[in-house]
Amino acid sequence: MPNKPISRIGILTSGGDAQGMNAALRAVVRTSLDRGIEVFAIYEGYQGMVEGGDQIRPMIWDSVGGIMHRGGTIIGTARSEAFRTPEGRLQAAKNLIESDIDNLVIIGGDGSLTGAHIFRQEWPDLLNKLVKKKMVSPEKAQAHPYLRIVGLVGSIDNDMFGTDMTIGADSALHRITEAVDAISSTAASHQRTFVVKVMGRNCGYLALMGGLATGADWVLIPENPPDVDNWRELMIQRLKAGRQAGRRDSIVVIAEGAQDRHGKYIGSAEVAKTLEDGLGEEVRVTVLGHVQRGGMPSAFDRNLGTLLGHAAVETLLSSSADSEPQLIGMRGNRITHSPLMDCVEQTRAVAEAIQEHDYETAMMLRGSSFKEAFETLRTMLRALPHPPQPGRKRLRLAVIHSGSPAPGMNAAVRAAVRIGIDKGHIMLGIRNGFSGLMEGTIQEMNWMSVNGWASRGGCELGTVRKVPTGSDFYALARAIEKHDIDGILMIGGWTGYETAYQLLKQRGNYPAFNIPIVCLPASINNYLPGSELSIGADTALNNIVEAVDKIKDSAVALRRVFVVEVMGRSCGYLALMSGLATGAERVYIHEEGVTLKDLEKDVDNLTYGFTHGKRLGLMIRNEAANPLYDTAFMCKLFEEEGHDLFDVRQSILGHLQQGGNPSPFDRIQATRLATRCIDYLVEQVEGKTAQSAFIGLQGKEIKFHNMEDFDRMIDVKNKRPKVQWWMDLRQIARVLAQPGPSRRKSQDKIAD
Ligand code: ADP
Repeated sequence: MPNKPISRIGILTSGGDAQGMNAALRAVVRTSLDRGIEVFAIYEGYQGMVEGGDQIRPMIWDSVGGIMHRGGTIIGTARSEAFRTPEGRLQAAKNLIESDIDNLVIIGGDGSLTGAHIFRQEWPDLLNKLVKKKMVSPEKAQAHPYLRIVGLVGSIDNDMFGTDMTIGADSALHRITEAVDAISSTAASHQRTFVVKVMGRNCGYLALMGGLATGADWVLIPENPPDVDNWRELMIQRLKAGRQAGRRDSIVVIAEGAQDRHGKYIGSAEVAKTLEDGLGEEVRVTVLGHVQRGGMPSAFDRNLGTLLGHAAVETLLSSSADSEPQLIGMRGNRITHSPLMDCVEQTRAVAEAIQEHDYETAMMLRGSSFKEAFETLRTMLRALPHPPQPGRKRLRLAVIHSGSPAPGMNAAVRAAVRIGIDKGHIMLGIRNGFSGLMEGTIQEMNWMSVNGWASRGGCELGTVRKVPTGSDFYALARAIEKHDIDGILMIGGWTGYETAYQLLKQRGNYPAFNIPIVCLPASINNYLPGSELSIGADTALNNIVEAVDKIKDSAVALRRVFVVEVMGRSCGYLALMSGLATGAERVYIHEEGVTLKDLEKDVDNLTYGFTHGKRLGLMIRNEAANPLYDTAFMCKLFEEEGHDLFDVRQSILGHLQQGGNPSPFDRIQATRLATRCIDYLVEQVEGKTAQSAFIGLQGKEIKFHNMEDFDRMIDVKNKRPKVQWWMDLRQIARVLAQPGPSRRKSQDKIAD
């Protein structure tokens, strides 16, 4: 089918609302406008499409200004019974044709996307009927022979096939971890048991990941009910054993749709009663409910919505008019396209498998990382480890940090220690990095020594930023020999990687270094090779985004420009991603540098904006963007050049970026990576291969890289990887932040 150029796109949000839908809407609107395409918002989901009239309205650049930090969806969402009927869909088709819309971006759950699929399939018939009934003219109908659809999944449940994450799931996990962290502290004070119910009718994602992130003691999910009928007694025994081992609180997380092997619903009240009887203590129930849908969208959801929204428009533009509807999703850090109906069908298949009590299929359909997370959770929540297998050598594996503290380091240590001990090995915790190893500040960790570490910020073992030199190597070799260390897991940043690389290079001089060292990336800067997302970066990003939201609020009534300086050393990741998540109009990063010409252009843009109604300017600057044109200099320049139009303030966020409890993503990713790293070390020692490596998410999967590649993969001078995947996102950030000069004339004002 030859492509008729697209001149108009309609967008709607449908089904349950989800945080991040606004970011997707903003991206669809602004990407379209940037491409010279008109955008119409269809308010109140399919209901608005059926009603037509004022429910279908054109959007301009400013319509979507300042909405990214708001939860829900500004164009409304509804459940529409009318759209489920042929008459309703006939009316909806008429309204679309009258508005000349035959390209749609639909953001919703599987119900909404199914509705979209049916609507598209019926489109030719609906046109015929409309012409026959003289509801539209034949010419109008001929002008719109096909309906082109792209779907984005907005759902807090993360229940959709075809994407690792749905828009809203990460924010919901934030709400859950905040709530469970808060409950844990009160529960621990009183040695109480809490049952926490979270959303997820057919999908245990929130319960599973919430449980993993908070260190819950028992989790019930629909896809994998307890495999024994006497699970209640087992649960009571486990919780009792946990208390005996020293846990002060017990948290049971239940998904809304939890059921037993026979499909019998398990309610929170029932579990609480069982526990009260079994434990002989008062048990409290907290049903989180709609809190999970509320609140500020997380940095991840803002960026996910933004990237998917942008990709939705690009996909419409590049597909032929009669092409199958696509679902745009994300695998790892990559945008993916899948046939929409396949995804819906696979999603339904999970629900059907659960209904038929075929839990093996349900788990298989959820995918390998879900299954892996479930297995890890099972180990982590044990009251005590499995006893070591007789006859198998117990390895002595050390856990060490190096570099600055990063939120999530403790969660990684907790997972490594528990997984290692459960596999029968001896886990050694080294205090204060490689200096501590030389000094012998080493302790054997036990199961309970990492209790409660999942949610703790900072770095319990302590970390040092020094890279060993000269005689340090001798001291290190002695320490490794003395403590009979078989392998090392280094959880940390650049200095840790450098040290591991040096030890590898010194193997010829010091035979003690012939042990495997595996590096787990933990640094808020996200500047480590072989890893697209290091532990801590997501927390830092959320810290920045929260701070910038507040800064923006403080200036609402003033004509003000903020220059916000963020960390990252020579890596612009935090600056760019926080710029993308907060709608900053300019991001300065070291990779691009800053020239006087750039600054002149920026002054010009600001001046233009403020003379056309702009009230707030936001510039985000990486701390090392340019050593001479520093934040203070830029502020002075803008202030002077802004004359009376605007004033300028600087905000250097500093160490607040590194602090606070780790985000759910950092906790989960830390746990996931640490689990793999322990497996890796054991494999290397038992296989006598002693290969050192670093782990990380790359593209769509988690991979190990041989430590030999470290030098080859880094830009030594600037201390960052040679290839940085996120650099491709600069263009999107630019497009969405400011209308291009060509459209300036047509805009009354420029919003943030
Ligand atoms: P979600 O999209 O979050 O799964 P729903 O299942 O409630 O939410 O679907 C939202 C809306 O999508 C429904 O109110 C209805 O208008 C439309 N819809 C859902 N399923 C269908 C269907 N099979 N046929 C037509 N429209 C549907």
